[in-house]
Amino acid sequence: MLSYNVAGLLRATPGTVRTYPVRATTLAIADDLRLAAPIEGEVRLSRTGRSILARAELRTALEEHCSRCLIPLVAPVVVRVDEEALPSIDLLTGQPLDLTSEPEALRLDDHHELDLTEPVREAIALAEPIRSLCRPDCRGLCATCGTDLNADPSHRHGEPEIDPRLAALAEWRPADDDPTT
Ligand SMILES: [Zn+2]
Ligand SMILES: [Zn+2]
Repeated sequence: MLSYNVAGLLRATPGTVRTYPVRATTLAIADDLRLAAPIEGEVRLSRTGRSILARAELRTALEEHCSRCLIPLVAPVVVRVDEEALPSIDLLTGQPLDLTSEPEALRLDDHHELDLTEPVREAIALAEPIRSLCRPDCRGLCATCGTDLNADPSHRHGEPEIDPRLAALAEWRPADDDPTT
């Protein structure tokens, strides 16, 4: 879905710009990171003297959990992708170009397809919030028993509870400890 044929754009004069809407696009981000909404936005491709510049502004949302109370929530994210994609074959001659000089560069494939799937996936994964809150004043969970303190704001344990059997042990001393016996 995030793939664009730029054969025509490569023949256009440098400076030519084409824009493509992105609508209702989904993508597998990672095993532990899933989209909660489709990807929407716009991809803008411009022809430069030697390449295609791809600029995407996209909105989506991620399935997250509140970092305090752990309930599932939806975290909106906005990502920008800026990539320069170099041809892998010469448009005029059809001959393969030397790809070793810029091994890291994004490449158009042999059919002049520009695939933004990987850059977009990476940008969305990097946009994952470090911590999400279901609401700014989320009370979180009781550290002692795990009760949701949003549902039960008056929840309290008071004095630390000591198991009565342990309390009895705390008072017990071996008779041998008493030197007067
Ligand atoms: Zn919460
Ligand atoms: Zn508790």
